[in-house]
Amino acid sequence: MERDNAWKKYSESDLEKLEKINRDYRKFLDTGKTERECVAESVRLAKEAGYRNLADIIANGETLKAGDKVYLAYMGKSIVLFHIGSKPIDQGMNILGAHIDSPRIDIKQNPLYEDTEIAYLDTHYYGGIKKYQWVTIPLAIHGVVVKKDGTVLNIIIGEDENDPVVFISDLLIHLAQTQLEKKGAKVIEGEDLNVIIGNMPLKDEEKDAVKKNIIRLIKEKYDFEEEDFISAELEVVPAGKAREAGIDRSMIMAYGQDDRSCAYTSLIAMIEKKEVETTACVLLVDKEEIGSVGATGMQSKFFENTLAELLDRMGIYSELTLRRVLANSKMLSSDVSAAFDPTYASVFEKKNAAYFSKGIVINKFTGSRGKSGSNDANAEYIGEIRRIFDKYEVAYQTAELGKVDQGGGGTIAYIMALYGMNVIDSGVAVLNMHAPYEVVSKADIYEAVKAYEAFISE
Ligand code: MN
Ligand code: MN
Repeated sequence: MERDNAWKKYSESDLEKLEKINRDYRKFLDTGKTERECVAESVRLAKEAGYRNLADIIANGETLKAGDKVYLAYMGKSIVLFHIGSKPIDQGMNILGAHIDSPRIDIKQNPLYEDTEIAYLDTHYYGGIKKYQWVTIPLAIHGVVVKKDGTVLNIIIGEDENDPVVFISDLLIHLAQTQLEKKGAKVIEGEDLNVIIGNMPLKDEEKDAVKKNIIRLIKEKYDFEEEDFISAELEVVPAGKAREAGIDRSMIMAYGQDDRSCAYTSLIAMIEKKEVETTACVLLVDKEEIGSVGATGMQSKFFENTLAELLDRMGIYSELTLRRVLANSKMLSSDVSAAFDPTYASVFEKKNAAYFSKGIVINKFTGSRGKSGSNDANAEYIGEIRRIFDKYEVAYQTAELGKVDQGGGGTIAYIMALYGMNVIDSGVAVLNMHAPYEVVSKADIYEAVKAYEAFISE
């Protein structure tokens, strides 16, 4: 069956709301180009909406009750928000979970070198990228440098109009005969993603004069030494702001929309909600792109621990209550889908593909090679989601990731399903997923907010 294009149904007031949401969304993308920046911005927005830091509540020995709104940021890279509902929490929560890490190029721990009077930073890419897409474009450096005394320096180079950018070179076409015979995966290799950061020598220096000048500049401008790269997390990302795309301005082109398109829409649905019956929870996590590992990834116990702390502050903590809350919860694992691309139609199965502007995409399963590694949501749960989306007039569509045997992917859904809760993947359709600049439809951003709002309203 065919789904309608959502643009056709919009009234003037819909279009006004749609444009506002998308303007704010672009701002979020510009402010949050790393998981750390996304957490900082989420904390700011949550506080503005009356959310309080759970860590303070624990430290002050305060208690929590229905109507209270709290957040907890974990290691600055993941965040969980709760809005306590009027119904007993052991009947379960409505959880929206998305990830805020995106594919990028990380700077190595001993990165700085000079070759033929060009200074470079050596890198190790993060997540699944087509390496050849990341050369010859303006890049920015975002992240932190932590000094031995614990001082944390926040670094952003390449975003301000007056900032310089950095870049990775590619071979000129005139000399690329051998390179172009290579397979796509080998045209640019991981070890060749070397970021060029300078070419000016320090006067009166013989050896490594360009590198020495860079070290001098870093000390002067950012107040750290070469050795401090050891305890730094510096991420190289495309420079510049999110843009409207298409002459009709129907789309948004920007870095990091997998999965910040779902993270932002989930967050907004949550913090703009005035009252809830069922306790609502938003979970924005790190490390999804490398398998949800690490202390700030979904496989970490931090979410469960935070929930235990919440129950404790509500005066009802027990191991059994914790298990019941988790098992009775329902979740939308908010993650993006591959939008059908007519130019590459052969990898999609048209009846079960996601399309631009047809609303939020529900994926019963993800995975690859026979659903392997997927969550595969229950039909009963999907029935309930259909009922909710129809009740709130949310445009939605169902899809799977490309043709059977064509490839695949995963999300955080299967990890939360380990608690025995109902989970389904649902999110925004994205073109050029994992490319430096990804594209979404504004209509789908609007429908995602509506869908997430509807979900936490039930
Ligand atoms: Mn994703
Ligand atoms: Mn991804």
